[in-house]
Amino acid sequence: MSATFVGMPAFPEAAREAVRNPTLRGNLRHATHTIRAKRARAVGELSDWAGLREAGRRIKDHTLRHLDRYLEQLEESVTAAGGTVHWAADAEEANRIVTELVRATGESEVVKVKSMATQEIELNEALAAAGIRAYETDLAELIVQLGKDRPSHILVPAIHRNRGEIRDIFAREMREWGRPAPEDLTDTPADLAEAARLHLREKFLRAKVGISGANFMVAETGTLVVVESEGNGRMCLTLPETLISVVGIEKIVPTWRDLEVFLQTLPRSSTAERMNPYTSMWTGTTDEDGPRAFHLVLLDNGRTDTLADTVGRQALRCIRCSACLNVCPVYERAGGHAYGSVYPGPIGAILSPQLRGTGSEIDASLPYASSLCGACYEVCPVAIDIPEVLVHLRERVVEGGPAVRRGNKVLLKPAKGHAAERAAMRAARWAFAHPGALRAGQRLASRTRRLHPRTLPGPGRAWSGARDLPAVPPEPFRDWWQRTRGGKDGDR
Ligand code: SF4
Repeated sequence: MSATFVGMPAFPEAAREAVRNPTLRGNLRHATHTIRAKRARAVGELSDWAGLREAGRRIKDHTLRHLDRYLEQLEESVTAAGGTVHWAADAEEANRIVTELVRATGESEVVKVKSMATQEIELNEALAAAGIRAYETDLAELIVQLGKDRPSHILVPAIHRNRGEIRDIFAREMREWGRPAPEDLTDTPADLAEAARLHLREKFLRAKVGISGANFMVAETGTLVVVESEGNGRMCLTLPETLISVVGIEKIVPTWRDLEVFLQTLPRSSTAERMNPYTSMWTGTTDEDGPRAFHLVLLDNGRTDTLADTVGRQALRCIRCSACLNVCPVYERAGGHAYGSVYPGPIGAILSPQLRGTGSEIDASLPYASSLCGACYEVCPVAIDIPEVLVHLRERVVEGGPAVRRGNKVLLKPAKGHAAERAAMRAARWAFAHPGALRAGQRLASRTRRLHPRTLPGPGRAWSGARDLPAVPPEPFRDWWQRTRGGKDGDR
């Protein structure tokens, strides 16, 4: 069983721990810089990249505006093709539906394709509580599961591990889950991949139930699409007798023509490939081929709340390429675990506080986990203005305080932590509305500047602990202007 994100501290505290770990920083720096350079080259090859990006943005926005219509169309298409559609309002309902579906097959183990949605709802933990063992089959997910670890990247969940660490995990843990690692296992990529292949093959051939997510769902035909690089997804989607797919409702596209855009932008943005290696598509069930039963669980879990926010809803355009993580200076240093969610990095900083609300310390801190440099927006293939949403969510935290979810309602409670900030803003407003008092204050500050403390007291200490306080000039700007230019104070 992997560790979960439950009870994670606020971002600054978790990030402080992470930046003290030189191995983690080295692993992250190497991996993110490598993939970021490759992505830039792959994207640079296309002369119409800006047009594709804009097309992706428009398709997603159009779909989100008419989400109810397209979801109904999808349900009709999937049902007509022999599948069964289930609707899950939250994680609990989705987990209950999947657990009952697996139980109905009489099986006690399932194979899984890498899926963010099932991690979001902690499906593996729910299945384990019901006595059902879920085997992750994506190589990086396998490393996370065997290491009883948490994912730290959307595309490469074990990005925080180097080859030596992975070798040790395989050698130590594989025997607990099935076929052990070879005695002479080295840390070369070929050896590690072969050990994983042999370990997983017996699970693929034995499994009667497969569980997946989906990158896209095409409303016009009810087709689901999984995009992956290892072939494990193809095995999970075709060999088992029952296939259960848990998919966020925002993953829908209206037509195959729309899908074409994302099948060009996703591989280049994520793995820097011109074309994705394994793109699996299936429509309901087919006689004599593939699973006999197909269930689609459509997951809300905070998405309609997010859709109701006209600024924040752009986060639902995300196609989970992870390009924003790979260019983010904060992610590169803090790593993925500090974000306290399966969605780390810039997209996590805007998605988690919207899906979960800003009621917890970690979710209220995430909108601040950014320098607002804008690199994430530059690389995003669906043009999500992440800095804009971050500032919007900061406003929500400061103005309203953390939102608390009670049943179906989201309530706002007073933000104790920001009372000092609000008092400072009120004082500034008063001072700017009284120029005489402002001038007197500035002169006093200049005259007493040698007596000023080097650090701020109280909550401001954390800010000045890592920065130099700006020095107060010997003379206020207005006095200097008047002395050197001879103008009247209020004229300028
Ligand atoms: S926000 Fe944009 S760049 Fe980041 S993962 Fe989503 S689609 Fe990719």
